[in-house]
Amino acid sequence: MSDTDTRDPTSLRTPIVAVLGHVDHGKTSLLDKIRGSAVIEGEAGAITQHIGATAVPLDIISSIAGDLVDPEDFDLPGLLFIDTPGHHSFTTLRSRGGALADIAILVVDVNDGFQPQTLEALDILKRSQTPFIVAANKIDTVPGWNANEDEPINDTYESQSERVRQRLDEELYEIIGNLSDEGFSADLYWRVQNFQRNIGVVPVSAMTGEGVPDLLTVMMGLSQRYMKEEMEIDVAGPGVGTVLEVKEEKGFGTTVDTVLYDGTIRADDKIVVGGQNEPIVTDVRALLQPRPLAEIRTESRFEKVDEVGAAAGIKIAAPDLADAMAGAPVRVVRDRDLDEVIEEVQAELADIAVDTAEE
Ligand code: GDP
Repeated sequence: MSDTDTRDPTSLRTPIVAVLGHVDHGKTSLLDKIRGSAVIEGEAGAITQHIGATAVPLDIISSIAGDLVDPEDFDLPGLLFIDTPGHHSFTTLRSRGGALADIAILVVDVNDGFQPQTLEALDILKRSQTPFIVAANKIDTVPGWNANEDEPINDTYESQSERVRQRLDEELYEIIGNLSDEGFSADLYWRVQNFQRNIGVVPVSAMTGEGVPDLLTVMMGLSQRYMKEEMEIDVAGPGVGTVLEVKEEKGFGTTVDTVLYDGTIRADDKIVVGGQNEPIVTDVRALLQPRPLAEIRTESRFEKVDEVGAAAGIKIAAPDLADAMAGAPVRVVRDRDLDEVIEEVQAELADIAVDTAEE
């Protein structure tokens, strides 16, 4: 939370965003662009680099989006992007049987159109019932394109020649047609009235940043409008999360990089983590966040924090984590009955096992 943020942090969490799409269509570039724009806008360091995720607070979104976003219209605190794009991470990262991501961006290269992994992504999104928008990427590669860095799509579209506009329109309508063939009613995002019924297509360039203001605005609007209730959590309650990655870390032993999606985790909590054979019961030794770049010299890349609230990416150091698994649940025990928490973790692990067997 930034200092200027006066909204109540105890009730609404940040929606978790995943990026999917065919290889080379620009998933990584788009995430890099969003991170880059957020760093530039947040001179005082308001953007927070989490472990495995990037938090873009509402005030930063609103300065990137300019006239497109009025912060007064929103009370969700921003967006948390999972840093590892792709289908594998989307399907292994679960929460309570569903997808860990609350919302997704499906990236489609406007020139290359629908490809096998685009269809696969659509199938995954459909099955997990994850709301999504389509980023029609690489608009700057339309022959004759006149780039206007970081501008909203309408402004840059207006400055293109008639021929370029026509060409882009054709490519966008092809994507809309492809979506329709797959059973999704879609349209250019500014024509969409109800994002629950229709998929919004946002033309963007991960290279020039054109359309990125629109993309962030639509994601924020979609979350605010249709997911606010799901974002209501008891921030002070015992934390619940999902393991992104199990990592050896010099000086800390085995650690689990975790996305926390409910409650709070504290440096003195007892936790239960899903393991390869059985739930691991252990005590947190340290909660670690990336140290700000300016401070990295001889010290560790990480700094210890006392507590973290959802949604956030955090590295947990604790004994006995060697058997922990990516995708497994993490639950804080605190004042709850330990056996009950172990049972919950077991039930979630059983869910994961069933899904893996089905694949
Ligand atoms: P990923 O495999 O989906 O993560 O795709 P990448 O982000 O690695 O991008 C694949 C290639 O496309 C890289 O060479 C990028 O520089 C390029 N690329 C991505 N987005 C754009 C874009 O908007 N415009 C242009 N011209 N190139 C892009």
